[in-house]
Amino acid sequence: ICLRKNGSYSRPLFAERFNRLLSTHQTERKLQDKVALITGAASGIGKATATKFINNGAKVIIADIQQQLGQETAKELGPNATFITCDVTKESDISNAVDFAISEYKQLDIMYNNAGIPCKSPPSIVNLDLALFDKVMAINVRAVMAGIKHAARVMIPRGTGSILCTASVTGVMGGMAQHTYSVSKFAVIGIVKSMASELCKHGIRVNCISPFAIPTPFVMGEMNQIYPHLDSRRLVDVVHNVGVLNGANCEPNDIANAALYLASDDARYVSGHNLVVDGGFTSFKSLEFPAPDQVQ
Ligand code: NAD
Repeated sequence: ICLRKNGSYSRPLFAERFNRLLSTHQTERKLQDKVALITGAASGIGKATATKFINNGAKVIIADIQQQLGQETAKELGPNATFITCDVTKESDISNAVDFAISEYKQLDIMYNNAGIPCKSPPSIVNLDLALFDKVMAINVRAVMAGIKHAARVMIPRGTGSILCTASVTGVMGGMAQHTYSVSKFAVIGIVKSMASELCKHGIRVNCISPFAIPTPFVMGEMNQIYPHLDSRRLVDVVHNVGVLNGANCEPNDIANAALYLASDDARYVSGHNLVVDGGFTSFKSLEFPAPDQVQ
């Protein structure tokens, strides 16, 4: 690249191009020296986000109930990833994870309440299993409140911070999932707006992301039960084919990109927002009128 047309080597040209490359690389590191805690980061969306944050200069604490997978993920992501066992249904585990960030890194800049579980509850309200409802709420809703509570505890004294949560398109429109899961995600969007209203005066932003269907282990387990005759490749196709945006499928990295935006200074004036990543799915619904010859 730095050779002249006559084949000789240009040192100034090399230096200029090296510096340009370096500055491009540096501007891409949007979370340099930031510390992030991500729940449910042993796999799926959380893992993709941890990877993205580390590539942008952050130190990431992976907090997950799956001990072995969490440790393997941290090892795979390198020295800027640390694993801590955390069951988000236990407030003490969340509190410990936040305290770990402070003792290890002296600060917590980003808290991402991402852990969640699907729900195989019966489709009709008349058959609602309230014990299952309570279990899903404990992880998908109560744990999000606890995560924000403990993040705020250490962020308020510093007067800065970014809190993220994973909601869902099923919390934007009714009829896209079983009631219990759908209600839990509607609640997350409400939590974000309510918490943002208080924490804005402390310089803390609170936002959530609503992903479309992505074939993570979370969804694949569900799909396997509905379509036991299909192999995993076909199941991935089924999930992807539900989308409406031609030429792209929703992937964990799309959510990681949204999380990077919301966590970074690029979103410094964005709070109380639900960033829907669904290829337009919840923005429109086609009206399918019957063909004229079918209506008498
Ligand atoms: P995933 O199964 O790959 O990851 C979920 C992670 O949460 C796992 O690592 C799991 O061990 C962890 N977890 C579960 N219970 C926990 C607990 N009690 N304490 C701590 N960790 C726990 O699934 P994913 O798709 O990456 O899901 C992440 C989030 O995204 C969830 O909140 C889910 O509701 C949401 N979401 C997923 C989709 C999708 O289609 N995959 C769509 C919309 C929203």
